[in-house]
Amino acid sequence: MLKPDIAAELRTILGVEGVIDKHEQLRTYESDCLTNYRVVPALVVLPTSTEQVQAVVRLCHREHIPFVPRGSGTGLSGGALPSEGSVVIGTARMREILDVDLPNQRAVVQPGVINLWVTQRVAPEGYYYAPDPSSQQVCSIGGNIAENSGGAHCLKYGFTVNHVLGMKLVLADGSLVEIGGAALDTPGYDLPGIVVGSEGTLGIATEITLRLMRKPEAVQTLLAAFATCDEAGEAVSRIIAAGIVPAAAEIMDRLAIEAAEAAVHAGYPDAQALLLVELDGPRTEVVSQLERVSALCREAGATELRLATTDEERALMWKGRKSAFAAVGRISPNYIVQDGVIPRTALPEILREIAEMSAAAGLRVANVFHAGDGNLHPLVLYPDKNDYEKAEHLAGDILKTCVAHGGSITGEHGVGWDKKDYMPVMFETADLATHQLVRCALDPANLCNPGKVYPTPRLCGEVPGPYRPHPVELAGLGERF
Ligand SMILES: Cc1cc2nc3c(=O)[nH]c(=O)nc-3n(C[C@H](O)[C@H](O)[C@H](O)COP(=O)(O)OP(=O)(O)OC[C@H]3O[C@@H](n4cnc5c(N)ncnc54)[C@H](O)[C@@H]3O)c2cc1C
Repeated sequence: MLKPDIAAELRTILGVEGVIDKHEQLRTYESDCLTNYRVVPALVVLPTSTEQVQAVVRLCHREHIPFVPRGSGTGLSGGALPSEGSVVIGTARMREILDVDLPNQRAVVQPGVINLWVTQRVAPEGYYYAPDPSSQQVCSIGGNIAENSGGAHCLKYGFTVNHVLGMKLVLADGSLVEIGGAALDTPGYDLPGIVVGSEGTLGIATEITLRLMRKPEAVQTLLAAFATCDEAGEAVSRIIAAGIVPAAAEIMDRLAIEAAEAAVHAGYPDAQALLLVELDGPRTEVVSQLERVSALCREAGATELRLATTDEERALMWKGRKSAFAAVGRISPNYIVQDGVIPRTALPEILREIAEMSAAAGLRVANVFHAGDGNLHPLVLYPDKNDYEKAEHLAGDILKTCVAHGGSITGEHGVGWDKKDYMPVMFETADLATHQLVRCALDPANLCNPGKVYPTPRLCGEVPGPYRPHPVELAGLGERF
């Protein structure tokens, strides 16, 4: 419980409409899209400017109140899950595109701006914002930054980190820093690179400078049907080995196809696996690559190839893929969306292992993946709610398999609250302590989104409070910045 005068003080900063303290309204913020974890926050505030964010954070710092940044709440790892007694700082009223500078290909936006709005704003002039998470119609740029979000087109164009030039960041004591800049590179440490992907634990981004891209001259989208996922994976390996980097290469297995088809009626072919390949660039290059990619798909065993001939057909092909997570709700009311990474060449082996684990657990797994990046999204279905723990166990075993093959526990959805206990599967204790040195340098009182990403207290502790030196420091083996 917060002192009653805290809400009153926040109202003087934000106005009545900027503070939410009624229990039934606070419940809207009790989770992100990982709804298995829920904590009702003490308060929610909705600032409209950098200055207001600073004033709120200063107050939290003064009173030792933990705070949790929140964008649209579409996160899938519990990143925006409130901590006990916390103030959630939502960016839903910070939704302005502040500046668009097309000659220099950049835009400055507030963090609550929805990803797709950036492209919609600049598309008439022939530009777009490249990172395209499937949630792009609703997720915010602030959330994208915190999660270093990816999307189907990140294979060729890179993740969010490759499209953020700089930002204003409110640190955990309420001070404001500007990092990066308007140019493609700035001298010194890559500070935006540290903040992008830090999952809201290093501060709150309040103004972000994004890189815009020129729309390619030509785009072609090809759908290839296969009798097995192995063959579809083989086609992707052959395409990349041929020196072609498609804008996107996405695979869906039988179960995911069925779900997507039921949801959006994309008219997909009847197949065990579908590969969606998008090629873009100068027209002549795309034409010749399309010929080569079609041949490589046939060599890998494609039973049918379909080329989108109109924008509508292309949009429908993508709609099925982009709706796949939600569509799975049609075949199972409960499911876990997993996110792991593997070396692309390990795909057939991992899929076989997932099938074996799925059979042993008696739970079905639908597979949707960014095949070009080796980013898997197994969807573990558990129609019976009582099977939740079994499903969690299976989802965890899939992650461990990814790591055992030289991969990672997350490709784009982040660690958040959900996967922090898997961090030691990838990192040694000393590695985790080193990571935490960054966090403690910026937030020694551990107030900014505490309890996320890292499994146990390392340096400044996982609970708000004064700084506690780590044994590594006490032994003189490491020092605090
Ligand atoms: C159907 C569906 C499909 C999805 N597809 C994809 C996909 O293809 N690729 C992908 O990468 N993700 C995907 N996601 C996950 C999610 O949409 C992304 O992680 C997205 O970036 C989260 O944005 P958000 O605004 O909803 O952030 P939130 O969920 O509100 O927050 C996410 C994290 O960002 C932090 N945060 C929010 N705003 C700020 C800020 N201004 N400053 C600092 N930290 C901040 C929060 O504390 C939290 O840790 C999908 C989710 C769903 C539900």
